[in-house]
Amino acid sequence: MADSVVCRDKRGRFSKTLQETSEPAVAENIEIDHNYGVGHLCIAGATGCAVCCPGIDKLLGSTKINTSTSWHSGRRLVEWGTLLDHLKFCSRCYNGPLILSHETIKGEMKCGLAGYLYIQCTSCQELNRVPYGSTHKENPSSKGMPSFCVNTKLGAAMIDSLGGPQRVNNVLTTLNLPSISHKNLKVMERRAGDMIEDFANMSMERRGREAFAAEMRFGFINT
Ligand SMILES: [Zn+2]
Ligand SMILES: [Zn+2]
Repeated sequence: MADSVVCRDKRGRFSKTLQETSEPAVAENIEIDHNYGVGHLCIAGATGCAVCCPGIDKLLGSTKINTSTSWHSGRRLVEWGTLLDHLKFCSRCYNGPLILSHETIKGEMKCGLAGYLYIQCTSCQELNRVPYGSTHKENPSSKGMPSFCVNTKLGAAMIDSLGGPQRVNNVLTTLNLPSISHKNLKVMERRAGDMIEDFANMSMERRGREAFAAEMRFGFINT
């Protein structure tokens, strides 16, 4: 019976001269379809551990980021366009969209009236920092974090109509929006004040130029 065993050569042709080897050659890097035996059973809770959520240690160690489940209480001001634009795809694997759910949101960093959500990609496990408000930079070449437009506008409102940090926080508390520390409100007020001053200077300059041009024209016509 041993003579009747016919083996295939490397090109797939039947050959009687080839002997059957005891162990077939195994291709390397095979992806295991049914990998229940090598899966990760996480006991770290909702946030996950460093294995199932790489980078979570940084979030847990930060004092500015809220990783407990209390991030989803209260009310927020959300700019849908900005949020949805940043949810289009993952910053690492470019798969998308990122899913907004209890399981994928790992924390929140509040910055005044706006902030960032830390959302885990379901494809590559990367943590994506997603702002839910539009941002701007006073100096585009600087490397620091951008400022949220809503906070600068709150600073302008504090100068124009609300009148002081205490009143701002009274309004925010009534609306069940997160309150802002006096120190941060002062920063927003100063930033808005500088911008208002710049606009006022620009406007004055333009008005001065127009007045000068009108005077020159008037003098030219009368002579
Ligand atoms: Zn885990
Ligand atoms: Zn990804």
